[in-house]
Amino acid sequence: MALYKPTELREFLDGLGIHPKKSLSQNFLIDGNIIRRTIASAEVVAGDIVVEIGPGPGALTEALLACGAKVVAVEKDDTYAAALGRLDPTGENLRVIHGDALEVDIIEPLRALGKGDQKVKLIANLPYHLTTPLLARFIKMNSLFSGLYVMVQEEVGRRMTAVAGGEDYSSLTVFLDFYSTPKYCFFVGRKCFFPSPKVDSAVVALLLHPPVLEEESVSNFFILTRTAFEHRRKMLRSSLKGLYPPERTMAVLEEIGKDPQLRPEQLSLDEFVALYQGLNR
Ligand code: SAM
Repeated sequence: MALYKPTELREFLDGLGIHPKKSLSQNFLIDGNIIRRTIASAEVVAGDIVVEIGPGPGALTEALLACGAKVVAVEKDDTYAAALGRLDPTGENLRVIHGDALEVDIIEPLRALGKGDQKVKLIANLPYHLTTPLLARFIKMNSLFSGLYVMVQEEVGRRMTAVAGGEDYSSLTVFLDFYSTPKYCFFVGRKCFFPSPKVDSAVVALLLHPPVLEEESVSNFFILTRTAFEHRRKMLRSSLKGLYPPERTMAVLEEIGKDPQLRPEQLSLDEFVALYQGLNR
């Protein structure tokens, strides 16, 4: 069944007697080309193991299985989760987890699919209301995942992949850079979904690497970056004044070769790390 074809998707939904739910961000892909490009961006090859979040009716799942990938699919919706088994009746290549992707264990089902030492890819047309918490959960798992390949709201995709100095650069960008190398893959128009949402989308790849600071520094580092971006228009020395004396911030900025009057969007991840290290020496 080619579920990305609007007529087949409608038949599938009518057959189950259900309608897409807004509360679960159910906007389903109805463009086979976008599915192919998503899979190509993740360079999926036969034998890959993939975690898919929110498979819904299963158009992307079906295409992943057709490439020879093994898939752990995590779906919260009862009806779709129950219907997914039809894509692999033997269960050899597909494990469906019925639950919340923010909470469920994925290690055991990956083992059951035969995962050994190889790294896994996460591929998903994400439920957009959960984009940030889902990324925050999976981006830290660099020993499990080689990369996260996700469809997100276009505006969020631009913020995820922004570079220092631009207006889309934010604490989200710094957070993602800390754990990964983000790459904007391609734009996806709103007409590629049923029902069509009010916003366009984009596919973004996050190639995971180990975090750039030791575990014990991570939470204080992100307190610094979040505080810095709370007031984008303010200079760092004043937005950070609740954490560090302004003269100290200015001195460290000078030490690392930066202008002491800088605003947060002008510092790259490496420069934020140098600032943090200088302030905590
Ligand atoms: N992959 C399908 C596609 O591309 O057509 C559906 C994508 S749709 C944007 C998001 C999917 O995520 C829906 O199937 C929805 O039920 C599911 N979902 C929503 N919240 C979830 C959660 N917390 N955990 C797992 N799946 C969730």
